[in-house]
Amino acid sequence: MKIISSPLELKNYLKNYNCSVGFVPTMGALHEGHISLIKKAKEQNDLVIVSIFLNPTQFLKDEDLDKYPKKDEADKKLCQLSGVDVLFFPHVDDIYAEDEVSVLAPKVRGYVLEGSSRPGHFNGVLTVVIKLLNIVNPTRAYFGKKDAQQLNLISLMVKQFFMSVEIVAVDTVREKDGLALSSRNAYLTPSQREEALKIASSLRNATVMVTRGVLDSKEIISGMREILSPLHIFYVEILNRDFNQLAHIEIGNTIILVEVKVGTTRLLDNIWL
Ligand code: AMP
Repeated sequence: MKIISSPLELKNYLKNYNCSVGFVPTMGALHEGHISLIKKAKEQNDLVIVSIFLNPTQFLKDEDLDKYPKKDEADKKLCQLSGVDVLFFPHVDDIYAEDEVSVLAPKVRGYVLEGSSRPGHFNGVLTVVIKLLNIVNPTRAYFGKKDAQQLNLISLMVKQFFMSVEIVAVDTVREKDGLALSSRNAYLTPSQREEALKIASSLRNATVMVTRGVLDSKEIISGMREILSPLHIFYVEILNRDFNQLAHIEIGNTIILVEVKVGTTRLLDNIWL
């Protein structure tokens, strides 16, 4: 596995290849969720590139940038063992300059759900993703369905900026007890982790209600809120795949999304029905 930190060096290196390239952008502290993206990229492409870049512009001022888990050496080993061809590990100065051109998230879809409690977060996400995609110029780029709003906005950017990369959505990987894997789970104490299981329970309950024929969004949301209580709930929403609200579940076109705070940690999860 080759490790490259300079964008220009990576661009030059990739000139030697005329094959399909799969790209998996991450912020590090890799877990099985990230590995499933890498596996999918390996299945579908000749060359696989992973980036590890803790992107400062997507963190708001009072957020956890400074304490975000860092596991550089373990991450390198995991990438190597997963068959990654190139690990792109840039420094902040390699990616950002002082006076920058910027990409802005759409005024509506970028400021609902996670964007409502983290205003500006998606400007940072889209800016770094467009930079990384321009450096790697992949055939396909892989994103987790767990971050459904991020996936939706990146797909929108690729479409609206007429970019030619194919965005591939990958299913959420969970612990045996249902907790969605996340680098931020490392912040949870054992009792908070127990509390966090309410998220998966609420989504399971919603699925059971739907299989029993309950399709009314309000009824499902109120059942979920009961299960999530007393956690601080940022939102529980039932949307279609274009992120518009649904009054009734439409099988094959629905995402049920939750974001809560457990202790000081925000956790998000969703199911696609
Ligand atoms: P992050 O390092 O948190 O920026 O995540 C990098 C990529 O991994 C994003 O596309 C995430 O959506 C994806 N990801 C994070 N957690 C999971 C998970 N549990 N299952 C599948 N993909 C995930």
